[in-house]
Amino acid sequence: MPEGHTIHRLAARHAELFAGDKVHASSPQRRFAEGAALLSGTVLEATEAYGKHLLHHHAGEMTLHVHLGLYGKVTDGAGEPPEPVGQVRLRLTSDRHWLDLRGPTACEVLTPPEVDALRARLGPDPLRADADPERAYARISRSATPLAALLLDQSVVAGTGLIFVTEALFRAGLPPTLPGRRLGRAAWDRLWADLVTLMRLAERQGRIDTVRDEHLPEAMGRAPRVDRHGGEVYVYRRPGAPCHVCATAVSRGDMAGRNLYWCPTCQRG
Ligand SMILES: [Zn+2]
Repeated sequence: MPEGHTIHRLAARHAELFAGDKVHASSPQRRFAEGAALLSGTVLEATEAYGKHLLHHHAGEMTLHVHLGLYGKVTDGAGEPPEPVGQVRLRLTSDRHWLDLRGPTACEVLTPPEVDALRARLGPDPLRADADPERAYARISRSATPLAALLLDQSVVAGTGLIFVTEALFRAGLPPTLPGRRLGRAAWDRLWADLVTLMRLAERQGRIDTVRDEHLPEAMGRAPRVDRHGGEVYVYRRPGAPCHVCATAVSRGDMAGRNLYWCPTCQRG
């Protein structure tokens, strides 16, 4: 599933392509025909990302809400759109650009109170200027749930997925199983600041890089990572490989059906 930086990049891209323009909306596969009819002919005023949720605010107090989920994809281009290929849930076109959305988990039109309700059920998003990390710490510091599970819970922190969470915990030297309430205030402040740094970098670069300069392939004389996720990381999807810091084999474990990765030496806590 794409992590929050991908959605923030999409929001910025869609503002660049469409903001201020009147758009035509359609649903070539028909599943979103009613919603598309509501949006069609309106001006797309602004876009926004909140965690993994993408919002297009249209004139007339209508907001298109998209969650890509595991399989959602967005493509776009300039000029005339191509013939729809596959299951295109939503096609947006303006005089200048087009956009196709396929396979989202959510694609719906929301009213302003519904947008407020969506925001209210999400934790602070490290990529948003209005994020309040206190709200997340209030949840974490009262919970016996493992820290990794809390950070993956979008109602605690929004936008963080498995890569950011496993890597930020490694960089903090914290075991993923640490109960939330054992995380001290100062450690939380550092962890939040690091999430902001890592996610902003990923938003700029379009890929997730988490290793410090001294652990880059060139600095260590090692081969670069080969993985479809790109980016240099410490532990994510490196089970059994030597830790870049201490050479201990990276561990893998299960947490609520998801793979977790950590260094048993660097992350003793
Ligand atoms: Zn290590």
